[in-house]
Formats: sequence, C-alpha cells, structure tokens
Amino acid sequence: MVVVAQRYGEGHRILLTGGAGFVGSHLADALIARGAHVVVLDNFVTGSKDNVAHLVDHPRFTLVEADVSEPLPAVDALSARFDAIMHFASPASPTDFQLLPVEILRVGSIATLQLLERAVADGARFVMASTSEAYGDPLVHPQPETYWGNVNPIGIRSVYDEAKRFSEAATMGYQRGRGADVGIVRIFNTYGERMRPDDGRAIPTFISQALRGEPITVHGSGTQTRSICHVSDLVRGILLLLDSGETGPVNCGTEHEMTMLELADTIVRLSDSTSTVSLLPRTADDPERRRPDLTKARELLGYEPSVSPEEGLRRTVEYFRSR
Ligand code: NAD
Repeated sequence: MVVVAQRYGEGHRILLTGGAGFVGSHLADALIARGAHVVVLDNFVTGSKDNVAHLVDHPRFTLVEADVSEPLPAVDALSARFDAIMHFASPASPTDFQLLPVEILRVGSIATLQLLERAVADGARFVMASTSEAYGDPLVHPQPETYWGNVNPIGIRSVYDEAKRFSEAATMGYQRGRGADVGIVRIFNTYGERMRPDDGRAIPTFISQALRGEPITVHGSGTQTRSICHVSDLVRGILLLLDSGETGPVNCGTEHEMTMLELADTIVRLSDSTSTVSLLPRTADDPERRRPDLTKARELLGYEPSVSPEEGLRRTVEYFRSR
C-alpha cells in the first residue's frame, strides 16, 4: 500500500483559484486545517462569498476578488512567493457551458498559461483541475488515463472539454519546456455540500426538485450512467496528488456506477419525497457512460474513496434541506 507523506501545510503559501466555488471552498478548508496560508482568487462568476464566509476572518486566509483570466492585481497577498498554485477556477456545469462559453475558454487557456508562468517564477508546484470531460463521450469503459477521449470539438460542451484539454497540454508543455513541477487531476462527477441548487448539474437539480415535491426531470431514457464522488473523497485525492509530486494525469472519483434513474430514485427516497420522474429529451453530446479506472490513483497515491453514494447523498440532501 502506497503512503504519501504530507508535503504541503504549515508555513506554506498556497494560491487557490476558484476557492469560493463548490470544490475550491472544501479544498480551502482542508488546506487551512493543515496549517497552510491560503490565498483564494475568485471573481464569483459561479462561486459565492458565502462558501468561504467562515474563513474570511481566519489569519491564514486571504480572499482576493479578481478575474484570473486578466493580469493578476498588484496586491500584497499576490506579490509574495507561493509554494503551490492550484488552478480550480472554471465554470463547470452544463448550464455554464451555454451561458459562459467565452469565460470558460479564457479561464482554461489564458489563466492557465498565466498561472503556469507564475508557478515557474516562484518554483511552486502547480496542480490543475482537469475533468472526466476530457474523455468526451468515451468509447472505452471504464476510462483509464491512457485513453485519449472522444470529444466533439465544436459541440455544445466543447468550450469546457477542449479548454481543459488545452490546460492539460499547457501543463505538460510547461513541465517539458520550462521544468515546472506539475500535477493534473481528472475529476469525475463530484457532489456534496455547497453545490448551487440551480447550477444545472443532475444531483442538485434532483435534490431541489425532490424537496419541493416537483417532478424529477431526467434527460434521455435515464439509463445513462455516472459514478458519483462525494467532495470529501475528492479533496483527499487532490491533496494526495499535491503532496506526491506525481504528474499524472490521475483520475479521481469513485467506481460506483449508477444510472440517472437509480440516482433519481435514491434522492427521492432520501428526501422522503413523493416526486415522480419525468423524462425530457436527451441533451446534445451527453456522455452515455462514465466511470474512472482508479488503478493509477491507487498505485501512485494510495487513493481509495470511502463515502458510499447513500451516505454522501444523505449528507447533501440534509444540507439542501437546511437551506
Ligand atoms: P464552481 O463553479 O462551484 O467553482 C468554480 C469557481 O471558480 C467559482 O467560485 C467561480 O466563481 C470561480 N471562477 C470561474 N472563473 C473564474 C475566473 N475567470 N476568475 C476567478 N474565478 C473564477 O465549480 P466546481 O464544481 O467547484 O469546480 C471546480 C473545478 O473543478 C473546476 O475547474 C472544474 O472544472 C473542476 N471539476 C469539477 C467537477 C465536479 O464534478 N464538481 C468535475 C470535474 C472537474
């Protein structure tokens, strides 16, 4: 069993873009808990100050409101050297792909290059949030990191898929051409507390509908699958990659595959709801199946997800109910 020693924590300065978002805010919590100084750079395009409200008075937390696709503002928090730069800024939901196509392209290209330059200048480790969308509508199942993907370059999801693929290429280019210390994590469908109820992703949509007693809107036949990962498992995987010094790309997620109908039924049950399922037309380029091959994550990082869908969804339903 591989055991990765903690390398980043007390005394380290970490720049986290997108830290006011769903995943980023949980990552900020975990880094603060390790003793790091965390500088979050976020423009709140899809994130919220509420997600980090509990951190703003923390002496080791700094929030800078700025667009990371523009030159970085000349503020003290950004002028000192960073030990690690974690690029998690990007709108990430299918609704965002349609509403924010240019913003997604810019944050997955211009911002990535700018942060890689900074990582080289600082001698910082650079960790990039990639995605299972890099595999597109995969023809290989489950997806190992060696699979190159099946992406429609001009489809409705392409701004996101191709920007992330460009970010991966840029990350590898800076490693090969500039000696950058880099890690790429390919994140599979992740859910949990602090997701936006209206972000257009299946789980928050289904939970919101179930709690309101409205029909659960499933696109297509509902037989398409996803393997869903609770955010606490994802954050553990990301920190293992950060500490390991490995390049990856490494898949991070869970192997538990569910159909959309199973997901809808589980959420209705956990919400004590009377909602029924309503089938809508399939959305364009919606992948049929998604499941990570976690062999590499296990071998390189000793990564093992531990939260069952039942437990993670229960926590998420309670979070949405409490709001
Ligand atoms: P999110 O929308 O909740 O968080 C993204 C954050 O980035 C938000 O706070 C947003 O305001 C910020 N942001 C976006 N563009 C910015 C810009 N130009 N300048 C500054 N801040 C900007 O989404 P998330 O689900 O937390 O995703 C976080 C990262 O993980 C993204 O890079 C996403 O692509 C990746 N990812 C997430 C999933 C998932 O299932 N949640 C899956 C694969 C990859």
